[in-house]
Amino acid sequence: MKITGVHTHILQAALSQPLAYSRAWYDSRTAMLVEIETDQGVVGWGECYGPARMTAAVVGSVAPWLIGEDPLRTDCLWQMIYARLRDHGQKGVVIQGLSGIDIALWDIKGKHFGVPVHQLLGGAQRTEVAAYATGLYRRKSDDPTQYLAEQAAAYVAEGFSAVKLNVGFGLGEDAAVTRAVREAIGPNVALMVDANHAYDSVAAIRFGRMIEPYDIGWFEEPVPPEDLAGYRAVKTALSIPIAGGECEFTRFGFRDLFVSRALDIAQPDTCAAGGLSECKKIADMAEALGIRYNPHVWGTGIAIAASLHLIAVLPPHTPLSLNTAGPFLEFDRTEHPIRQAILTDSIEHARGIVRVPDRPGLGIEIDRKALARFDAQ
Ligand code: CA
Repeated sequence: MKITGVHTHILQAALSQPLAYSRAWYDSRTAMLVEIETDQGVVGWGECYGPARMTAAVVGSVAPWLIGEDPLRTDCLWQMIYARLRDHGQKGVVIQGLSGIDIALWDIKGKHFGVPVHQLLGGAQRTEVAAYATGLYRRKSDDPTQYLAEQAAAYVAEGFSAVKLNVGFGLGEDAAVTRAVREAIGPNVALMVDANHAYDSVAAIRFGRMIEPYDIGWFEEPVPPEDLAGYRAVKTALSIPIAGGECEFTRFGFRDLFVSRALDIAQPDTCAAGGLSECKKIADMAEALGIRYNPHVWGTGIAIAASLHLIAVLPPHTPLSLNTAGPFLEFDRTEHPIRQAILTDSIEHARGIVRVPDRPGLGIEIDRKALARFDAQ
C-alpha cells in the first residue's frame, strides 16, 4: 500500500455566545483535519490541535515526503518527519502537524487490517471510559457563582460524576466560584480546577490553600508550562494533585517534565504531543514513573475517537477518589458546532460514560457535507 494524497481541512464556526478562559475570549471554534489517501482506496483521518492555518502549513509542507510511502510504517514515518525537522521543530506547531498525520496513518492501519486502533495499540483494557465534563467557562455578564453553579449541577443531572471548572480570573473570585460549584454538586462528584497557567507559583499556592477544603481532584496548569520550578513549588506546597502537559510535546519533552517531578497527572493532547505513536510512548513512561495519564481533549470527534483508543489500552491508575478511577476522558461540554457534526455517528456519553469505538481504524465515518459547511480554507 502506498500513500497517494495528503490533504488538510481548515474548519471554522461562530459561537452563539463568546466564552472566556483565563487568557482570552473565544467567539468561534476552529478545527484542522488531516485526510490521507492510499492507492488501495483506504482513507485515514487525523486532527491537529493548535492554530489551524499554521498546522495546515506544516502538514502541507510535509505532504510531499509522504507520497509513495507505505502508510503502515507508522513509527518509521514519524521518525523520518521528526528527524527532517529536528533542527527547527522539536515542539509546537511542527509536532502538532505531525500528530494529525500520525493519527490518520493509524486510522489507515486499522482499516487495512480490519481492526480497531486500540487492538493494534495492545488491546483494550476497557470498552467504556468514564468522562468528566469540561465547561464552566466565564461569560461576559452575570454572576459566575450563580451561572457556573447551575451549569455544574446540570452536568451532574446529565450523569457526569466529575466536572472541571475554569479558574485564573483572580484569587477571591476563583475561590468563591469553586466553593459555589462544590456546594451545587455536593460531596460525591469529583471537582477539578484548571487555571490555564494564569498564575505564578505564589498566587497558585495561595489559591490552592483557599480551595483545599473543597476536595479538589486536581489543580491543572497552575503556572506557565516553562516554569518547572514553579510547578514543583506548587506540588510541594499543596495536598491537591497537580496536573499539566497540554503544552508539552513528544517523549523528549515529557521525559524532562516527568524527571523533574513537576506533575502528579500528565495530560498530553493526542492531537498535539505527537499523535498515537508518541502518546503511547509517553503513557508508558508515565506509568513507569508513577504519574497518572489523563489526555487533554479539546477537538472534534476525530480527537475524541483517537483519545478513546489510547485510553482503552492504558493500565488503570490509583483512584483520585471513589468515583474517579481513571484514566478518564476529557469531554468538552462547551459550544462547538463542528465537534460532532463532522461524524456520521456522533460520540455521545450516557450518564457520564463513553463507549470506545470498536469498528476498524478510529471507528468513525466523516460527513463530507459537514466539512463543506464549515470550510474555512
Ligand atoms: Ca486545560
